[in-house]
Amino acid sequence: MVRVPTKLVTWDEIVEWSMGLAETIKRRGFKPDIVIAVSRGGYVPARLICDFLLVDNLISLQSQHWTEAAKVAEKALIKFPYKVDLSGLRALLVDDIVDTGDTLILAKDFIASEWNPKDLKIAALQWISPVAKIKPDFYYIEVKEWIWFQYPWTRHEDTTQFIKRILLEKKEIKREWSYNEIKTEFEESYGIFVGDAYFKLALNTLVELGILEKKNDVFVIKMT
Ligand code: AMP
Repeated sequence: MVRVPTKLVTWDEIVEWSMGLAETIKRRGFKPDIVIAVSRGGYVPARLICDFLLVDNLISLQSQHWTEAAKVAEKALIKFPYKVDLSGLRALLVDDIVDTGDTLILAKDFIASEWNPKDLKIAALQWISPVAKIKPDFYYIEVKEWIWFQYPWTRHEDTTQFIKRILLEKKEIKREWSYNEIKTEFEESYGIFVGDAYFKLALNTLVELGILEKKNDVFVIKMT
């Protein structure tokens, strides 16, 4: 049974979606002088948008969600609030997806007040319309039902976290797992397979982090 609806996004899809997004921006007549990638998710789409729209200027701003220690509530913050003068320039802020929209709202407000561009528009590959607090000026795909998009640039990080979550949940009833058992449980929980190279890398990472121990062909959960 799939517990978290997840879609594995391929590099080819990223190119196709970014090309479609660039076409939308062009058709609507917006000509950015500078692209601003929202770090980290917007990096690859922003670089591709620069290529498709032939934009030379690309900078980045790290706006991200963080979890306060021992609190469930999350809030977005600008990690490195540096200053740059964008006066006279039309800027395009690019991210991978607008989910809650908090990251982009924060980035947009920060750029508008601190960097002073002549114009500032938002573009995202995907927009989860039922939950997002903002609608981007340009998007390629409207997502009507929430789903986790497993983008190629977070494959190692996501796989590591997903495996850790599965094993933590089951640690009271099962502490020793074979590679194939973890793989089957992963596929049942998330409905995707990321490929053996990523799967092995994520398991090695969990061993390095001291969460798993490898004994012969078996992975043993070390967490108490
Ligand atoms: P948000 O502030 O909720 O709009 O999202 C912040 C960032 O988290 C996005 O730019 C993505 O990098 C990541 N993210 C949020 N929701 C998803 C999702 N459903 N699938 C993949 N990545 C997501």
